[in-house]
Amino acid sequence: MNSRCALVSKIIPFSCVDGPGSRLVLFLQGCNMRCKTCHNPWTIGRCNDCGDCVAACPNEALTLQDGRVGWQEDRCQQCDTCLHLCPRRATPMAQRLSVGAIIDRLRCAAPFIEGITVSGGEATTQLPFLLELFHAMKGDPALRHLTCLVDSNGLLNKTGWQKLLPVMDGAMIDLKAWDNEHHRLLTGRDNGPVKASIRWLAQHRRLTELRLLVIPDRSDYLTHLPALAAFIHTAGGVPVRINAFHHHGVVGEAAGWRSATAEDIEPLAQGLEARQINVIRPPLYL
Ligand code: SF4
Ligand code: SF4
Repeated sequence: MNSRCALVSKIIPFSCVDGPGSRLVLFLQGCNMRCKTCHNPWTIGRCNDCGDCVAACPNEALTLQDGRVGWQEDRCQQCDTCLHLCPRRATPMAQRLSVGAIIDRLRCAAPFIEGITVSGGEATTQLPFLLELFHAMKGDPALRHLTCLVDSNGLLNKTGWQKLLPVMDGAMIDLKAWDNEHHRLLTGRDNGPVKASIRWLAQHRRLTELRLLVIPDRSDYLTHLPALAAFIHTAGGVPVRINAFHHHGVVGEAAGWRSATAEDIEPLAQGLEARQINVIRPPLYL
């Protein structure tokens, strides 16, 4: 059977940090935000087969044939040389994988996991694939018990979420800043659509988790705490996960920003808890 393909940057067969329980995590390539704090910046762009990385590979794992860059997984030592020199923030290691190929992986992993989380990049930029994958899982007697979650930046519009509603069990959404101008500064995009997604998902009982990212001296959550807390209350009893910014893997100006410590997290965590909001703190600090 021919099934739709997606550009996949990575698959983690078992993860305990990408949603509730043990989950297979599928990272799709390509993102529609440009977050300064992204610690996985090579999932943002799409390779245009320029070939600049091919000669730099110390393990001859890359080839350029008929204008297409190829990657030989068995030769690759995951040294990341190609990632660091790519001008498009892409990776030559992304693979086109079909829904059928992912379903096969899920069948192998099914006895050991509670579900799948599709992340990125931005998972919803490949919405037709996402829809076909979740429909296939819900229609498969061996897989339909697995929960289908999306880890998203929240830019998808209402029409897109409506399409996902019958087959998606929940979404985890990041709100990188409360103030729109500040959000634009950090991500390059307005946060109005993100807030609209959070409201819509909460109304339809699909908001699994709201995520806030604390960047020392740069986050604006505390400045707007009453408005932020009121907004979270409109999303019902959704848990709020506070993530601590760390500059490991970050490129550009944010690579020089200070990483967050418990002292940076606590004022926000306690401020939200004082307003009866369920907070999940970072499990560790780097
Ligand atoms: S991964 Fe980047 S450097 Fe390598 S071929 Fe693609 S666009 Fe060029
Ligand atoms: S990570 Fe890139 S540069 Fe390093 S071995 Fe693999 S393909 Fe080559």
